[in-house]
Formats: sequence, C-alpha cells, structure tokens
Amino acid sequence: MTIKLYLEDSYIKSFRAKVLSLEETDGSFNLCLDRTAFYPISGGQDHDTGVIRGVNGSFKVLRVDELDDGSVVHSGFLEGVIKVGDDVEGVIDWDRRYRLMRMHTAAHILIQSVRSIYGLNVKCVSASKRVDGGHMDFSTSIQRDMLNKIEALANSIVNEDRPVIIRYMGLEEAESYVSRFGESLELYLRKHDVGESIRIVEVKDWIAIPCGGTHVHSTGEIGSIKILKRESKGKGVTRIYFDVA
Ligand SMILES: [Zn+2]
Repeated sequence: MTIKLYLEDSYIKSFRAKVLSLEETDGSFNLCLDRTAFYPISGGQDHDTGVIRGVNGSFKVLRVDELDDGSVVHSGFLEGVIKVGDDVEGVIDWDRRYRLMRMHTAAHILIQSVRSIYGLNVKCVSASKRVDGGHMDFSTSIQRDMLNKIEALANSIVNEDRPVIIRYMGLEEAESYVSRFGESLELYLRKHDVGESIRIVEVKDWIAIPCGGTHVHSTGEIGSIKILKRESKGKGVTRIYFDVA
C-alpha cells in the first residue's frame, strides 16, 4: 500500500520517495513508490501527470491508477536508468493538478446549489472532473432557465471564500456529520468498506460529503464557476456541464 501524500496535503508539488517496483510491457513502464503525491484516477477526478527523477534517469508520468490493494501505479516512459531501491524525486504538473482541485471543490459546491433549489432528496449520481471540463449527473430534471440561478448561488459561495475542511472519522460520526447537510453515506458505503475511517470534506456550512479527492483550501481559489449547458440523460437524470475560470 502506497503512502498517499495528496490525502494529507493536496498542495505538495514535489516529494522524495523510494522505488518499490518497475516493470516494462511493450516499451511502457509501470512504477511503484513507497509514497507519492501523484493523484490516481478516482472519484471522478482525473489523474496527475509529471516526472519522477533519479540520479541516472527520468520517468515521465502519463497516467496514474490505484489498485485494489491500495498501491498507486505510475505509468509512462523511462529515459536512462531507474532501479528498484533508488531514491527519486517526484514533481507533479501543478497547473493541471491545481485546475483539477478547483474543479473538484466547484463540483461539491454545485451539488448543494442544485439541491438548494430542487430539494435535498436530489442526488448527484456521478461526476467527472477533468482538465478539459467537468460534468455532473443529478437525479432530477433541471430546466435550462434555472442554470443561471444555480450558477449564481454557486458563485456566491465561491465569493464568500469559505474554508474547505477535511476530517477523518468513524461511520457513526460521519453519518450524523453529513446528515446536517441533508447528505447520506448510502452511495459511499456501496463502494467502500465500513471498517475504514471515512474522509469527510466540508465546504464550511454549505456541504459535507465523503471524498478522497484533492481540494483547494478555500472556495475563493476557484475563481468562478461557469455552467456551460444541461443535457437530459433520460430516466429523470440531468447532466450539467461546468468549468472554472
Ligand atoms: Zn469529491
């Protein structure tokens, strides 16, 4: 299991680590470290890119995944030589990551903006946060003429520059914490073991939900949220496309 530095501090841009494994298949390499700040694809947030440098070689990170056993695999290309046991320095592409962080916090704000208007029984059933834009699916029909209102509400939370607070807690405490915001752990518990401690992300006094993603420290860092369009996905589900600027 890799130590995940991005869970402790999402602002770590470079770090030192030791190489645990390096495998080649068809000219492409998979590299595992004892610790990493590279975020793997998960929770709808796209992975980081960047470089891992050793004394005699450099590894270009093109994709990052997390395996079921909790280890993080960096995939990409190797120039020169890196060996198991080497001390290396990882540097993540910060422009890409910081944009993904702003998009992820924006997505959390948008969930509650939609629910403030359409009711707390509305669920966000899936979400995608990528550098080329994001989208979220809600379990209700959202009319086009409400998009401006949702966007204005979301940007009022951005402009208030509210802190984003991350806490770990047990199941019972987490359930009562998120229920204060009209949220439940139902979707989360379908995909996660109950035994683990749960990471809850709160946009102060707006929304708290379980999340393993990387977030900005305060909502002002988002800049502004733009809702681009809506799309009916059938069965009462509406997709909203959004971006940050
Ligand atoms: Zn999240």
